[in-house]
Amino acid sequence: MSNYAYLDKQKHKLIYAKNCIAKDVGKDFYCPDPNCDGTVRLCAFNSNKVNVYFKGYNHSEDCSFYKNNINCRIDDYNTKDFSPSYLLNYIKKPINNKNKTTSTNKTQSNEINEKKTNKYIHSIKSLYYLAINYPIEEEINGYKISDLVCFNKTSHIYIKYIKGLKLIVCKFHRYDNQNKCLYFNYQSKLGQIKIKACFNDEKMYTNIRNKFYGYEGDVLIFSDWSNDNNYICTTITTSKQITATKD
Ligand SMILES: [Zn+2]
Repeated sequence: MSNYAYLDKQKHKLIYAKNCIAKDVGKDFYCPDPNCDGTVRLCAFNSNKVNVYFKGYNHSEDCSFYKNNINCRIDDYNTKDFSPSYLLNYIKKPINNKNKTTSTNKTQSNEINEKKTNKYIHSIKSLYYLAINYPIEEEINGYKISDLVCFNKTSHIYIKYIKGLKLIVCKFHRYDNQNKCLYFNYQSKLGQIKIKACFNDEKMYTNIRNKFYGYEGDVLIFSDWSNDNNYICTTITTSKQITATKD
């Protein structure tokens, strides 16, 4: 499922599902994933139960929309509190404090509105799903997706350095027990960029290493990145900063 698709095979001209008209029903469009040759079609046109979206059945196996049944829309979130630093602080908070924040944020609107406005971008997966579902120029509370996420759609922008708070979509490479570091590779347009994630907590390191060792799918890491001579590096302080796309 996706909110947008391309009109042409070269993927230059995009169209949002919400802007489609009756004659677009049944037409072939092209999958938003830059590495997928799949076609998609408009679904739920004129539905008053679900928002209109694109769906395809012939995605490539590593396409971000392959097996993805989540139609994630920015409108479904209350994005007023969203910023990269807020998200990082939020996932670092202990669980007890989080509950307190949610209850004080509750408004006295009716139940439906409350449900909607109480949905926040409080996990790196929510950010990832929004990023794959929108063109990279789209903004979330004033932050452009292209400034937030390093993935296949921004691989022409992040070709050498990645700096600051960003979500990187990468693949597991190797581990170093002595230094409690995990290594990943990020595929840029110009080649692979080496990613190094270090841990201070031995138990967290071991758990995450065991989870990703041998894992061939995409790994999401949200952190404050800096560059040393050989690596884009960071220190992970909560296990919520790192997850698999297919968890
Ligand atoms: Zn696809």
